[in-house]
Amino acid sequence: MRQAGHDSREAQLDPGYERHLCDRFAWVREQVELACARSSRKPSEVEVVCVSKTVGTSEVLAAFEAGFTHFAENRPQELVRKLEELQDAPELEQMTFDMIGNLQTNKINQVLGRARMIHSISSEHLAQAVSKRALVRDLRVPCLLEVNVSGEKSKGGMTPDECREAAERIAALDGLDVQGLMTMAPKGDADAARRTFCGLRELADDLTARTGLDLPRISCGMSDDFVIAVEEGSTLIRLGRVVFSQDYEVR
Ligand SMILES: *Cc1c(COP(=O)(O)O)cnc(C)c1O
Repeated sequence: MRQAGHDSREAQLDPGYERHLCDRFAWVREQVELACARSSRKPSEVEVVCVSKTVGTSEVLAAFEAGFTHFAENRPQELVRKLEELQDAPELEQMTFDMIGNLQTNKINQVLGRARMIHSISSEHLAQAVSKRALVRDLRVPCLLEVNVSGEKSKGGMTPDECREAAERIAALDGLDVQGLMTMAPKGDADAARRTFCGLRELADDLTARTGLDLPRISCGMSDDFVIAVEEGSTLIRLGRVVFSQDYEVR
């Protein structure tokens, strides 16, 4: 249980919202289990990461109470702010925060030592910049290479060919621990999403086969498409609205 009143920020949550988070935790887990059963996978291979970018620390703590333990932010300033607000919360020890958004080189230092993992290494240049700063602080930063599998102009990340070409050099950089790949699917098109997720998985398998790189983490799937992502091999689903928004409808 949370200590009553250890923090005034969490006083105001509606009990209906806490129930909402518990319901969503159970629903997401069930969907993951069903998708795993359909694709002969183990639910334990799939980690749920709650994207807390639209909510405050009270909602994050309530989500923790509901059962979620991994969180993610897409802006460095917000990651720093949340961690500062949570620094006296005993729950923080059992929570992790990932960086999933576009990362500018001048913001890298804010994220290092705070984020459990950076999902958004979107270029070799960024990888080098993270490596340089990690070495200064004697860190080895878990990270994923972001790949624009669908080829949409609006999406960040390396093209699959760029990733094939640069992956070994990036993985050899000191201060980085490349653990896998990340992508975002086109919105509102289930078939395109499936092709995107399948393409990411195949790219990881291909890189492993050709270079021996171990890429166990596949970060893909958001509120609208996480079931498809799990069927296609995702090991990290990044869920925002489906967890935090009461307006987001689930069947
Ligand atoms: C916001 C965001 C998510 C979560 O999106 P939802 O559709 O709300 O689940 C996942 N990944 C990234 C990179 C995001 O920015």
